[in-house]
Amino acid sequence: MRITGMRCRRFDMRLKRPIKVASGEISSGGTVLVRLDTDAGLYGLGEGSGVPFVTGEDCEDVLSGVERLAEAAMGRSPFEIQAVHAAMDAIYSGHTAAKAAIDTALFDLMAKAAGLPLYRFLGGICPVVETDRTIALAAPEDMAAEAAGLAARGFRHIKIKTGEDPEADIAAVRLIREAVGPGVRLKLDANQGWTAPTARRVMRALASCGIDALEQPLPARDLHGMSALRRALDAPLMADESCFSPEDAANIVRLDAAELINIKLMKSGGLHPARQINAVAAAAGLRCMLGCMTESRVGIAAAASLAAAEPNIIWADLDSTMFFEESAEIRGGCTVSGPRILLGEEPGLGAEADF
Ligand code: MG
Repeated sequence: MRITGMRCRRFDMRLKRPIKVASGEISSGGTVLVRLDTDAGLYGLGEGSGVPFVTGEDCEDVLSGVERLAEAAMGRSPFEIQAVHAAMDAIYSGHTAAKAAIDTALFDLMAKAAGLPLYRFLGGICPVVETDRTIALAAPEDMAAEAAGLAARGFRHIKIKTGEDPEADIAAVRLIREAVGPGVRLKLDANQGWTAPTARRVMRALASCGIDALEQPLPARDLHGMSALRRALDAPLMADESCFSPEDAANIVRLDAAELINIKLMKSGGLHPARQINAVAAAAGLRCMLGCMTESRVGIAAAASLAAAEPNIIWADLDSTMFFEESAEIRGGCTVSGPRILLGEEPGLGAEADF
């Protein structure tokens, strides 16, 4: 089986409301899907969902990226995943969301060729993944009301955006803990918005709130700062913007800069490098979470398949489809019900899209 053609298209999904985080705001819901055709009649679907202030790509960049990167896959078998990644890296550094689209389409094809749903192709047994839900920055009272609603709908894990105003952060987290009671697990994500003294002060103030993890309090490149901060905090640190690649994961391990890594297909450039990041982390005793950008059900199905397959991925933060009115032009892949993501049993991703 050889790749013979590529199509790509922007799909617009209506955002229910803007998503504000400390490092920027997501105010529109476009994403890019890629379809790789083969001479065997099978095709693979993949998604590239860039967030400019994280991956450096918007939809236009992803579209132009995949046009160029698809050259790396043309004429090859989808099983030549290593060679395709090497060829893509020789065309562009970065462009990770565009690379993720090509990579995921190749995995969709491999799993289809094997006659297995992707989560099984990746080694998984159970098709269900439980996700948390993220609460964006807003007035503390509004964040607490949203948390109470999520807890009532069965969400047992909530991730709270922080990092803009430390006093508001403290107020919001306290109100949220009060609103959801002791049974809901809470994580914080400061999106690089704090200094080390601020992080220490806020986490001291929240000592009685039972925080499972603090994600990316310091700027992405400050691994030495993360390493020093880790020793001063009770809550485990998670690296997100600090970790795009297996090499980043190795540096985090070397510098002892985090206990957890938030893997996102859009940062890593797809499933193949994501598995390598997880392997580096697992070998060093770090656990991982599988997160997302603004993917549709195609990218979420891919990410959830990896989360379902890897025991070292202990948490999922795969809630992007809940923030959009989904496009009727994108179907299948997974069924989301409350915090539960149910993967399909069709071969591959089981997703379809109108091209
Ligand atoms: Mg994050």
